[in-house]
Amino acid sequence: MARAFRLKVVLSIFAGLGFVAGALADGETQPGRDAKQPIDEAYTAKMKQYTTESFFTSPLVDYLPASKTVPTPEAVLGDVAGAPGILPYAEDVYKYMRMLEKASPRVKVLSIGTTEEGREMIAVALSSDANLKKMEENRALLAKLADPRALKLNDAEADKIVAQAIPIYYITGTIHSPETGAPTALMELAYRLAVDESPYIKDIRDGMITLITPVVEVDGRDRMVDIYKWHLAHPGQNYPNLVYWGKYVAHDNNRDAMGVTLKLTENVMNTYAKWNPQVLHDLHESVPYLYDNTIGDGPYNAWIDPILADEWNLISGRNVADMTKFGMPGVFAHGDFDTWSPGYLMFIAALHNGISRLYETFGNGGADTLERTLEPEEFARTWYKQNPPLPKVRWSQRDNNNYEETGLLVSLHYFNENKRMFLKNFYLKAKRSVEKPKSEGPAAYVLPADDPRATVQLELLKVMQKQHVEVSRLTSATTIALPAKKEKKPKAGEKKAEKKEEKKDEKPEPTTKTFPAGSYVIRTDQPYSRIADALLDYQYWSPEDPQKTPYDDTGWTFGELYGVQVTRVTDAKILEAPMEAVKELSVAGGVKGEGTVFAIENHAEPVLASLRYKLKDVDMQAAEEEFEAGGKRFAAGTIVLKGTNRGQLDSATKELGLQPVAMASAPTVKMHPLRTARILLLHTWLSTQTEGWWRLTLDKLGIPYDYASTQTIAGTPDLRDKYDVILFPPVGFAGSLNNIVNGLPTDWGNPLPWEKTELTPNLVGKNDSTPDLRPGLSWAGVAKLQKFVKDGGVLLTVMDTAQFASQAGITTGVTSANSDKMKIVGSVVGTRLVDGASPIGYGYGEKVAAYCDNGPVFSLTSIAGSRRRRRLGPEMGERPTGRGSKNDPDFAVGRAGVEAVEEPESEVWEAPPVTDEQRRNNPRAIPPAMRARVVLRYADAKDLLISGLAQGGGEIAQHPAVVDAPLGKGHVVMFSINPVWRGETQGTYSLVLNTVMNFDSLNAGRKDAEK
Ligand SMILES: [Zn+2]
Repeated sequence: MARAFRLKVVLSIFAGLGFVAGALADGETQPGRDAKQPIDEAYTAKMKQYTTESFFTSPLVDYLPASKTVPTPEAVLGDVAGAPGILPYAEDVYKYMRMLEKASPRVKVLSIGTTEEGREMIAVALSSDANLKKMEENRALLAKLADPRALKLNDAEADKIVAQAIPIYYITGTIHSPETGAPTALMELAYRLAVDESPYIKDIRDGMITLITPVVEVDGRDRMVDIYKWHLAHPGQNYPNLVYWGKYVAHDNNRDAMGVTLKLTENVMNTYAKWNPQVLHDLHESVPYLYDNTIGDGPYNAWIDPILADEWNLISGRNVADMTKFGMPGVFAHGDFDTWSPGYLMFIAALHNGISRLYETFGNGGADTLERTLEPEEFARTWYKQNPPLPKVRWSQRDNNNYEETGLLVSLHYFNENKRMFLKNFYLKAKRSVEKPKSEGPAAYVLPADDPRATVQLELLKVMQKQHVEVSRLTSATTIALPAKKEKKPKAGEKKAEKKEEKKDEKPEPTTKTFPAGSYVIRTDQPYSRIADALLDYQYWSPEDPQKTPYDDTGWTFGELYGVQVTRVTDAKILEAPMEAVKELSVAGGVKGEGTVFAIENHAEPVLASLRYKLKDVDMQAAEEEFEAGGKRFAAGTIVLKGTNRGQLDSATKELGLQPVAMASAPTVKMHPLRTARILLLHTWLSTQTEGWWRLTLDKLGIPYDYASTQTIAGTPDLRDKYDVILFPPVGFAGSLNNIVNGLPTDWGNPLPWEKTELTPNLVGKNDSTPDLRPGLSWAGVAKLQKFVKDGGVLLTVMDTAQFASQAGITTGVTSANSDKMKIVGSVVGTRLVDGASPIGYGYGEKVAAYCDNGPVFSLTSIAGSRRRRRLGPEMGERPTGRGSKNDPDFAVGRAGVEAVEEPESEVWEAPPVTDEQRRNNPRAIPPAMRARVVLRYADAKDLLISGLAQGGGEIAQHPAVVDAPLGKGHVVMFSINPVWRGETQGTYSLVLNTVMNFDSLNAGRKDAEK
């Protein structure tokens, strides 16, 4: 009915005014300008001039309508959007959006928060005057669809809202700073939506609200514009690459939608949760010419609603079809982006009942017009790329803007045409999320009140709240039934009878579980249950999956990586248990008991290190053995404080959520001091991406550190004089020995400055600077590092920097090899505590879950400079050919048989024992006290995988995961796992922080130390 009516109206208008545009048979408005509305001739001519091929534009953007009252982007840019040589700062983009707001009632600018460096983030609402006037009213309607509990899940009530609500489509631009085109495209798009009277655009304006955050990574944008300006001022020279984007991380800012540690994620998340858009569409630029990776490739994230998968197909399929009809080459979907990880910004929508979308258009990393030559796989015609890009083209920022705007306009139009369906889907997805306990389950996740790692549990719950997940708390103890364990079918060849025999001695599995009052419950009968489920559940990526190149991490189970207890509860009875909603999360802290000495149990909580630095003058010691006090047992690693003021300790521990126990006297066991180590966080100029997560972590914990580059330390006279611990987090891409030492080539080319100048006022921020990015650590720097350790310093290395330490010869006794065929792609793996007496392992239990991304394979050696014993010929695994059966000794004719000396055996993670033959006159034989000490090892192959993908894990199984290698008076601590990653690995932070706090007592508890 509505459609037939609309069709008539459109047709009559067309007939009356003789538009170029017509109507499609099914009532959809055709794209094309309003012949009655004059165009901005000068602007349009320049757009045409900057478009390098006639087919790199469309009827939607090959003209700009004129307005007497509303300024075009030229007012701020000085030229048209996408003009060569022009990249606006975020401030200029905002200035323009606010000019639009002033000039047109169809534009409203909302401030949505600030960045780490204090820059503003905005969202611009574009719609008809009438729609914007009732934005708040409409917000209330959409909120009911988003949380259908308000409608008692009544479909008829929902339909009433679906029929009248105005949907919202949220577009976010330039989260990736070197992908520079979106801001100008979005400025011009905003102008079009405010001004254009063509029926196609009017449909969009009148039917829906378009919400635009033109710059997501604002700090990075301003740095990128600085770099571009430097480039323009130095023609013909190389220019610095963008080593810093935001304050902490670069490209990974689009992997933060799980942990929500960055302000940009939080601000977009809150905007999403406040306005309830149906789509979140994020703009990127790395693929020619428009890769709509909304549909992507498998495997799909296992927690999305299948309705979403259908929506991806609908909206993206139509997007490609429309642009293909315009004759624009290189527009495609599918591709090889898997949709597994929920870390992408757009995935906020996917797991909060909206629709996630992402474009990769083609960017030149600036506003230069360039000849671009593609790779064969880029221009090949494939089943999903029927009209592929051209092998070689001249490409401009304007071309990029044409593609971005055209794609967005056809998407907005299609979305508007089908808005009732999308609104209904939005409601249905939310309703199905609320119904989750009844459908697929689980009913809830429970985090018990008696988890010894209360402060880490708190951090996990905070993530839930940042994700807008509701958290409740049991008001009385509650018992639930555990799911019955399925009996595994015996594999072929295994005998059933034997299996049963084994089972006799086993204890029966418990069938119920009781959670104490105060336990936290994350109910899944809530609208955002899917994100909670996705983060807390386990992931399994099959080695047999057709997708062989995972796009990102494959596992992330938050309970495991945080090292806290999380129970997946399928028993719906939990939902009837007495509980209350938790608004403010907190952990009780403060001193208990009477006495002047205080003990704090060590459960590997990172805030223990915060306390160390907060009370920097207080005497803190670590007990090296367990002890009893007041009838309570304290494990090794317990922190003992003496001579502190109770009031001061009470207020500090209340703030941190720690509970010191007062005692009459100090324990008599062996203790060593915990000092406030002077920390240097070392970075390269190759990449600051991965170490950024380390800085963020230390800053959040209030742990002070110096921050300097490999160049700086190469020129520091005495490192040990200034520092106790040097943290050298992974470099990431390009972190080889050669690159770390040599940096970028300096024998040719020009210096690449990273400095604050008049031309580049935003470049440095709160990070580091250098007159030339190119030089690396240098061999002199390597020597400095080695001397630092020999003089008693601790160098903590991780993955590629551990490999660097081994290959550069800074350490002996640990070899580091790259895995051969292994594929552990950002997975959660099991490790085992080998040496709990090592201070690095304080507070940990036998099993520790850790993040591993094809970590280097460490092996220990007892002979300096060699991996294992040198053997010639084939391995003598079994007895040689000779007399007797398999286990009989051979004989030599003519003399009595002699039994062989038994070879000493060792575990995979251990240093092989030195034989008598090896020891004789061997300067390479490492004395036991100087051998590397394994703190954690990888689990056995069968127990290695916890979450994600582990293929060929046998290569790393049982090998050392965390090693303490002594050198001179100091230590090189080497990690094969990455203990600090994307705010997701709080469970392993203390391996680093223990190293820091115990830096001058790492030999504590060493069994062979005195030998
Ligand atoms: Zn990107």
